[in-house]
Amino acid sequence: MRNCPVCMSKKRNLIMEQNFTIPDQWMIPNNLGLYLCSKCGMAYLDADKASQDVYDDYYRSGQFNFVGQNDLESTLRLEALGLEIQSICESEYRILDVGGEDGHLLNILVAQGFTKIETCGPSMDVEGYFDLLVMSHLVEHIYDMDSFFARLRPHLKPYTRLMVEIPVWTEYPETEEGWQTYDFNLIHINKFRSIDLSRMFSRVNFKCDKTQNLPNVRRFKCLRYQGHYMGPSEYPVIVWGLSDDVLNLVGGWNVEQYVDRSPVYRGCTIKGVPILDHVESSAPIVIGAIHSKDAIREEIRAAGLLNELIYL
Ligand SMILES: [Zn+2]
Repeated sequence: MRNCPVCMSKKRNLIMEQNFTIPDQWMIPNNLGLYLCSKCGMAYLDADKASQDVYDDYYRSGQFNFVGQNDLESTLRLEALGLEIQSICESEYRILDVGGEDGHLLNILVAQGFTKIETCGPSMDVEGYFDLLVMSHLVEHIYDMDSFFARLRPHLKPYTRLMVEIPVWTEYPETEEGWQTYDFNLIHINKFRSIDLSRMFSRVNFKCDKTQNLPNVRRFKCLRYQGHYMGPSEYPVIVWGLSDDVLNLVGGWNVEQYVDRSPVYRGCTIKGVPILDHVESSAPIVIGAIHSKDAIREEIRAAGLLNELIYL
């Protein structure tokens, strides 16, 4: 039995059974219960014999061709996603396309001039930290969300961006009868509305920046979520500019030093880490002064410092 992918609660109500007739050789569950979480209202599928391993085997065996490289809708969708990534990311960003092992989005981004792109499956078999994580039509398929998030966490640094696309249910039916005409799908095991997706990522410390409605893929309404990581990270950083936004977050960061020229901070430390008026190492610099980030960037570069810069 799985818990709610959004709020982790185990309390749920069965809405209806969904029964599918499938090939004898397929091991994925074909009798699925559609549940509504009693705590947060998320709708999701579950079955007695379901497990992440069962679904992983199903995808690995290629029984369902769920990414259409030759399908025009998918091509247009990924090209639009590439343009959105280009609009928010620097070309040197390290980007991970989770679930993009077919390499289609990777090729689009390479053609746009990005140089540090990797792909992986939900097993997250990658090293190090990333500036942007992309999950296009992935999370609606994940059975064990807690394990997935646990594997994700070591790859997050302050302000890692997140871009997620899903089929979306704009509202749930109000009656049991309404669900009968709603959605039958063997592998869309998480039935997100926009609010469900934002809540789910907020429990792992992502803040939603915006959501966008997208054109349908096949018969599904689609949504794009964009957010950034606000949680703890071991990634070593220098923090330049002690705005309240930053002071809210630095408790979970691995800060080597602070830079702030306000006289109120002269001689001060934060948990023993000094607040100075200059940079003393080559660690990445988080620019916390949102309104003067351009001036700070120019000053850093004019001083010949090549530190990686992270912007709020
Ligand atoms: Zn829930």
